[in-house]
Amino acid sequence: MSWTAVGVDFGGTKIRAARIAGGRVEDEATRPTPPEDPTMILGAVTDAVAAVHRPGCPIGVAMAGQIDRRSGVVRSSPNIPGRNIPLGPSLEDAFGVLVILDNDVRLAAAGEWSALGETPSLLVALYVGTGIGAGVLLNGHPLSGSHNLATEAGHATFIPGGELCSCGRLGCFEAYAGGRALAQRARRLLAQRGLGAAPLDAAAVIRMARHEDPAAAAVWEEAVEALRTLAWNLSVLFDPEVVVLGGGVVRGAPELLEEIRSHVEEQAWSGYPPPGIVLGHPDAAVLGAARTAWLEYHGG
Ligand SMILES: [Zn+2]
Repeated sequence: MSWTAVGVDFGGTKIRAARIAGGRVEDEATRPTPPEDPTMILGAVTDAVAAVHRPGCPIGVAMAGQIDRRSGVVRSSPNIPGRNIPLGPSLEDAFGVLVILDNDVRLAAAGEWSALGETPSLLVALYVGTGIGAGVLLNGHPLSGSHNLATEAGHATFIPGGELCSCGRLGCFEAYAGGRALAQRARRLLAQRGLGAAPLDAAAVIRMARHEDPAAAAVWEEAVEALRTLAWNLSVLFDPEVVVLGGGVVRGAPELLEEIRSHVEEQAWSGYPPPGIVLGHPDAAVLGAARTAWLEYHGG
């Protein structure tokens, strides 16, 4: 069925708005995310949407943080300073259409489902970037939980009493395999060896591990183990048809896909097919945001 809606991927460094028609990006505009002022940030989102919007098109916005889906208010987000920013109502006023706002991971999972032809009965999407997030869709419907907090997989426990996570708990998967944690752990080990504390990101850690730097290799090996374990835990809990992997760390280390696939296949129930392990779609966030907005607009 042909449909048109605008999807927005609201990131920490850029805001990408795309007009999606029949499941494909038809037009897109990108604006840098202004660093501080919420008014300027609202202006930048409005500007990006205006560049691609057509009269009557519903709008979906995907962003990290605590989002009140019903009111369209951003309770808190790493990408907007302050609290309770009325992003949804502000876009509704500007464009006079339905606007939905939701967690970026959940909307991206909806985009993966859409990109796979809307057929998987149960889909798990696992994103490993700065942090770790997951989305679960049952026949295309996201599992959101009682407080919109379901499947916060990065904060499930990998090692009880282990590393301190950004959420304040100990031993979360994210504290071992999230991009930020990877960089911090490698830096700490290098400093212990008296090798200074030069700025380091996850991509640099992966590169150093490939060149057999012992500190980076130890940190990376544990991250891979955490991700294999997490992918299997999600598989055994949800019995998915497909597990989609995405995010900066996965894109930076495509060999992860095979590592995870072989582990999940090894662990899978005998006599049943293991879930397919596939790489995420690059447009998943804008696609899922647009598709969800369109379905809501048409009462789907
Ligand atoms: Zn945590």
